[in-house]
Amino acid sequence: MDPHLTYPPDNDLRRLLRFEPHSGAIWLGERRMVLLHTAALTALRHDLITSVGKDHARRLLTRMGYACGLHDAGFAAKTRGKKTLEDMFLVGPQLHMLEGAARVTPVRLEMDAAAGRFEGVFRWDDSWEAHAHRLQYGVVDEPACWTLLGYASGYTSAFMGRLILFKEIRCSACGDDHCLIEGRPIDDWPDGDAHRQYFEDDSLLEKMAALSQQVEALKNTLEPAESGGMLVGASAGFQRAHDLMRRAAATQVTVLLTGETGVGKERFARALHEHSERAAGPFVAVNCAALPAELIEAELLGVEKGAFTGAHAARAGRFERAEGGTLFLDEVGDLPLPAQAKLLRVLQEGEIERLGSESARKVNVRLVAATNVNLEAAVERGQFRRDLFYRLNVYPICIPPLRERSSDIEPLARHLLARFTALHQKRLGGFSDRALQALARHSWPGNVRELENLVERGVILAAQGGVIEAEHLFPNQSEPVQDGIDPQGRLARRAPEDELRLCEQVLDAGVPIETLEAQVLALAVERSRGNLAGAARMLGLSRAQLAYRLKRAQSPEPE
Ligand SMILES: [Zn+2]
Repeated sequence: MDPHLTYPPDNDLRRLLRFEPHSGAIWLGERRMVLLHTAALTALRHDLITSVGKDHARRLLTRMGYACGLHDAGFAAKTRGKKTLEDMFLVGPQLHMLEGAARVTPVRLEMDAAAGRFEGVFRWDDSWEAHAHRLQYGVVDEPACWTLLGYASGYTSAFMGRLILFKEIRCSACGDDHCLIEGRPIDDWPDGDAHRQYFEDDSLLEKMAALSQQVEALKNTLEPAESGGMLVGASAGFQRAHDLMRRAAATQVTVLLTGETGVGKERFARALHEHSERAAGPFVAVNCAALPAELIEAELLGVEKGAFTGAHAARAGRFERAEGGTLFLDEVGDLPLPAQAKLLRVLQEGEIERLGSESARKVNVRLVAATNVNLEAAVERGQFRRDLFYRLNVYPICIPPLRERSSDIEPLARHLLARFTALHQKRLGGFSDRALQALARHSWPGNVRELENLVERGVILAAQGGVIEAEHLFPNQSEPVQDGIDPQGRLARRAPEDELRLCEQVLDAGVPIETLEAQVLALAVERSRGNLAGAARMLGLSRAQLAYRLKRAQSPEPE
């Protein structure tokens, strides 16, 4: 091994690997991983070879490894962006070991990132794949570490930004006692073109990706434009509500939309309006909770000149402004009782009387009301008129909360992502696995509106060209209980990320632990303005424990 090619400590990489005992998820950074039996992989390999032939099986497995390497290259700059180019590159071989592929020893490594020059030789001991191949086929003539080789090529290509081809010079599947691989830019290999087929863009995977993009684009065009993508949902509960809405649109029936805050009641009301014969007419929205009780009647019904002090001119109310269209009354449960009586009259007579007017005017308005409180319960409490409730409740549509339509969260989030990346002029590669899991786990008290806010924040916080990570969406969320791998390779409960970072800073700063303790104690006392009981609480100590430590810090025992 090249003497200056020693591995840096891998605690930065081990820290990426986390086991969440309660969710059944394993993470490498933001990517979800899985532990597989090599026996099962061996069986899959064998099935591939017998069903599609050796060449095609090799191609598929190489590409699988290539994809793994490609993804792992993302960790190089993230974990060792401030280290030397070699240390950064060695993230790949070290991760490959951590993932259990083989023992990797760098033999030679020469790189020039700017010139795109790369030459590397690595030794693999105990390759799982060579072992699997030998078990099944005995000693063979050709190297067999296809997945591993794909990984080396994928990782290095992503790292160098050009296609770097690795070949096995020696393989223990051929009877050697270890494997040896060599990598260079594909054009530097005399037979590079023959290997190009393993990495070509027109592969099955690429085709599938292109196809799914087309499907996505088609789905977008199928969506009603007026919903702005918000009426997205395939869950049964959402579809039921959507279907009821579409059927009501064709009629003149008064609709009552119920559901928690943020489920999108106004968007439903707008969609109802736009699917109705009244679409050419106005859509007027009033939030009853946002208007002071003494103004609400004037706002809804309008006023005649001189109706009350300050009414200098006649003014049309929202009912009149919605003539020929739809009036949306949000939070109708907050309407004061006198206003409820007037609203009931409008619904019964189909006419309104402006405040201060003696005569009634006919209005042609479809009413859509919405509430996030239980109106029946409000009726029981005497806060809502029973007769008005029956008038409004002719055609109720309940929009389910987001937590009850969890299958819609991801499609909705992707939709919002497209909208906000366009708005904020960002190019992003979607959500990380961990971000998607965090979205799925959240309880969504604020429903679709909350999702909208989170995704917009994520788009703003994510790095240009990157992906939205869990902490972009939930910056202050504490991590679930996680295990990591300790230096002995055992699972061990790990400290939260920010504590680890703090400890590293302490170590980097080279502050002796006793000095550090003395300073932390002094700072706590200072912050509590000399109140020792307060300082002790801050430190999670009893007052006596703090007094003891303070005394010790002031007169350290002789060594
Ligand atoms: Zn091999």
